[in-house]
Amino acid sequence: MEASPRLVIFREFRNSDSKDYINFVQLTNEAGFFTATGVLPISLDGEVGDFLSGYSDGPPPLLTHAPQELHTNPLVTYRELVTAVRNRNLDAPIWIRINGDTRFQPEEKFFSSRLLDAALLAGPLLCDGIGDAISVEEASDADSSRALAYNLLQGARARISKTEFVACPSCGRTLFNLETTTQKIKERTNHLKGVTIAVMGCIVNGPGEMADADFGYVGGAPGKINLYVGKKCVQTSIPEEHAVERLVDLIKEHGRWHEPNNIS
Ligand code: SF4
Repeated sequence: MEASPRLVIFREFRNSDSKDYINFVQLTNEAGFFTATGVLPISLDGEVGDFLSGYSDGPPPLLTHAPQELHTNPLVTYRELVTAVRNRNLDAPIWIRINGDTRFQPEEKFFSSRLLDAALLAGPLLCDGIGDAISVEEASDADSSRALAYNLLQGARARISKTEFVACPSCGRTLFNLETTTQKIKERTNHLKGVTIAVMGCIVNGPGEMADADFGYVGGAPGKINLYVGKKCVQTSIPEEHAVERLVDLIKEHGRWHEPNNIS
């Protein structure tokens, strides 16, 4: 039988008032809600930490940082929180929040700039294995916030939800327009969750820099493309104008293709 979803009730505790905290967690759990609390790392050293150590009445509360009066780098406060959780051996999941309190440059408007800004906090934490939940809280645009969260997770390899692309930075050896070609390849293949595609400008260094890509699109000669499956070159000298479709055919031949509307 499927468990029914439960609401998460969240409250921030910007001081270390332990009685208030304990009452809140007990009441929300008794009422059948999941509990999430923003806490100061220091409060886990005292009664709040004692309470959570022995807590067995329900799932442990999600923990996230509570902003402090003196503005502190949120990356530092999250690390302090994780240290406090580990010191107490608490079984509490950590929730990374990207919002006005944790953004470094909240005035950024473009998606790529917001992504970079959010990655300053989430990237180092996720790459260090910290974080059980993440939220991007920009009330004006829920779809874009969700996309941003998935991009953060994908960038840190914490959750793969779409195609992974590896592209060389391009240089004097590049044999095709790397930017427009990569864009064309993305438009055709961006929905292939779990597939990695490398786009490399030349065969001199490209094949060696494709990391562990499943498929490679590599400049072989001016106007000619070589295609790779893993590290093996399987097709050579394909006219550039046909190469993207030949790459798609190759992905199909290897059973890694599905149509975009089949994505789950
Ligand atoms: S793979 Fe080739 S084209 Fe791309 S940066 Fe390296 S040397 Fe330059």
